[in-house]
Amino acid sequence: MSVQKVKDSSDLDAKVPAHLRRTSITGLTVTSDPSHRCVKARVVHKGPMISCAQKDGIEMLKAEIREKDLPQSTTEHTSINVIFFGTLAKDFSQSVRQGDVVLLADFTIKKSPSFLRDKLHPCQLEMDGNDAFVYVCSSAAPSQGPSCSEAKYTYVPLNNLKHKTVVNVYGVVTFFKQPFPSKGSDYCSTLKITDQSDVKVSCNIFSKKLEDHPVIFRVGDIIRLHRFKTGIFNDSMTLLNTYGWSAVTFDGIIDSPVTPRATSKSFYFGESDRNTVQKLRQWASSQSLISNEPTVSLSSVSPGMYFDFTCQLLAKAVMDSRCILLKVWDGTKCEHPLLNIAVASDALVGESTAAKDRMNLTANVLVYDNHMEAAQDLKPGTFLRFYNLRSLLQRAPDQQADQAEHLSFHLHGGSTYGRGLRSLPAESPDLQSLKSVLENHVDLDEYDEVNDGTLLEIWYTPPEAVVLPNDEEPDEADTGHSYTVRTCEHNTQQLTLARVKRSTPPLSCHVRARVKKYHPQQLYQCLKLFCSKCKTMKDVPDDGAVAKVFRESARENRPCDVQWAATSSVRSREAGRNISMHISRDMVGQSTHMHLIFVEGTTLDEICVLSRNYENLVPVRSENGRMALMDLTAPFLFSRDKRYYGCKQCSLNTFENHVFAGMETYDGQTVAEALGVQLMQYRLLIQFELDDGTDTLEALLWENAEKFFHVSAVDASGSQDLQDKIQTIIDTIKPPQSSLEERPWLDLCLSVYTVKDNDSNNKVCYQITDSEIREE
Ligand SMILES: [Zn+2]
Ligand SMILES: [Zn+2]
Repeated sequence: MSVQKVKDSSDLDAKVPAHLRRTSITGLTVTSDPSHRCVKARVVHKGPMISCAQKDGIEMLKAEIREKDLPQSTTEHTSINVIFFGTLAKDFSQSVRQGDVVLLADFTIKKSPSFLRDKLHPCQLEMDGNDAFVYVCSSAAPSQGPSCSEAKYTYVPLNNLKHKTVVNVYGVVTFFKQPFPSKGSDYCSTLKITDQSDVKVSCNIFSKKLEDHPVIFRVGDIIRLHRFKTGIFNDSMTLLNTYGWSAVTFDGIIDSPVTPRATSKSFYFGESDRNTVQKLRQWASSQSLISNEPTVSLSSVSPGMYFDFTCQLLAKAVMDSRCILLKVWDGTKCEHPLLNIAVASDALVGESTAAKDRMNLTANVLVYDNHMEAAQDLKPGTFLRFYNLRSLLQRAPDQQADQAEHLSFHLHGGSTYGRGLRSLPAESPDLQSLKSVLENHVDLDEYDEVNDGTLLEIWYTPPEAVVLPNDEEPDEADTGHSYTVRTCEHNTQQLTLARVKRSTPPLSCHVRARVKKYHPQQLYQCLKLFCSKCKTMKDVPDDGAVAKVFRESARENRPCDVQWAATSSVRSREAGRNISMHISRDMVGQSTHMHLIFVEGTTLDEICVLSRNYENLVPVRSENGRMALMDLTAPFLFSRDKRYYGCKQCSLNTFENHVFAGMETYDGQTVAEALGVQLMQYRLLIQFELDDGTDTLEALLWENAEKFFHVSAVDASGSQDLQDKIQTIIDTIKPPQSSLEERPWLDLCLSVYTVKDNDSNNKVCYQITDSEIREE
């Protein structure tokens, strides 16, 4: 038995054979006995026919049915997948449409393999064999097709979305990006929607075909999404298109016709949809989600703006492999002289714009990189809208400084802040005023043949020279290899340096930039001493200053006389100077590397020689026979290659004999504590001037420096190899004699904060945090 049709839903019940009992979908379990049971439900999704490889290529079809008489919100698992096999699949495909009500009997119940993903139902029904039967009650006259069926979709308010469910939603678009190529062969649309619940939900749509993507013209448009899967991404609910998805959009302007924009041929659209759209329009206008002036006219454009621009294409020309010129107008006159870019007449597609150029009506828009694909398909006469277009004042390369700059327009690569362009259908409601303005200029065309001196004013400027580096997004901003990786878990968008500079601290943000300069140039100078107590930072003293302290300390010719120590002295080569070494008596007899040796009367060179053989040397001086520490300009401890310094302000210099007894290991910290010295830590400090093409800023690498280089500062202080490693890294991110373009991009996490300067004014600082060199 195959699929049989009935006229009315009540006929279905009459068709139920006496021995069958109706079962609710919700109540089905894998252990339910399917015999003598049937389900009645509405087909909410019907998949295509496919051939099943596991079953010798037998045809199969998957459909989703939903319990008919239960309100969907009250229970879980009211929908279930049904798999039809063989001729039943074929009959079902031909006879049943989405929205139809069906009665199914003699199914088998299996565990649903897709339950973890679709959360529909733990079971699925399989219909195979001769006994299975399907009665169908068509929900509409067959001739009207599925698009007109009265399928009732349930729409979930955005504040009621549950993780990992497949839903239908309505929303007002608050942000969108035109589809852009994603990884793989798909295009991706990104948008954010909201509804009366005021919850904003992000939505990603991946589809190979550009024409399948939602047709969104502007913020405030209303969108209906069917079969989108919910998921948590970065702690917030996100929608992703899933199998059988569709998207339909509507204009958001109140009182404009509710005309669905859809690319799919079959979609359902009925009175309830009309109502939903109207209600969302009302709500959106009360929330000021739509501005009355959706785009800026040419007459109100000022330099340095990012804006949406609605206009008509007059002519276009390909400039080179990554730039196309669009000559457009909106019938309004720009207040600033407009840049005109000369193009060979055979390269120009479309009408001559000479007359409009003279009246300052033609905007020359340079469209780059990923937007070229959309621009290439545009025909002159098309209405279009640019999103996040940039206006810039520019001066020709040979122009005098006192001449007026001209306004140019750039649509750079990338999709930051929704940057893009798209054509608009001529009947769009918000084009009507533009069209009437354009009609006022019909007479202009008559003058187009006039050829006077205006051409001389045109700049024969290649687009490269026109592009100013200031305040534009870098082309590689979104992609490409970076020499650094971020290690943070911030959920923050990547910003251009120009935007970072406009932001209000405090703030953590992510940037992608190159190193323009760094400071200090001499890398050993990036090694600093830092007192964590008083926050003093100073350079590591050079050997000259340290040697001087040693010489002065050695002048005292009365050696220390300390009861707690065993002392041995030798006469130095210099007349009248003795070198003494004191060890605590407790330590006598221990192996020498365990000793903490107090050295008196040496020069810097001599103690350096001694430190090759003795692990821990504390230089001391005699103060009228009493042992005292040297001036803290000098290290208070020499430990093999490393020298440890104390803070002059915070050290107490209170060392006494008994403290050393029982010390088992010596390191900078334990010795410092024993001596009453506040240890200064080694730190790395480098200032980078970063550049991403939009702006530059000076960022400190300080607290995160050791992680950044994978080098410990204290180890680097005593190791030429480690200092060389830092130098190598610096030479990689800013190779000597390289141009900025040759340097690698760095992905960085920046902390933006303020500090008070000497005049207690707030100064904004940028520090590189949570970023490190990628170790290949
Ligand atoms: Zn200090
Ligand atoms: Zn971060």
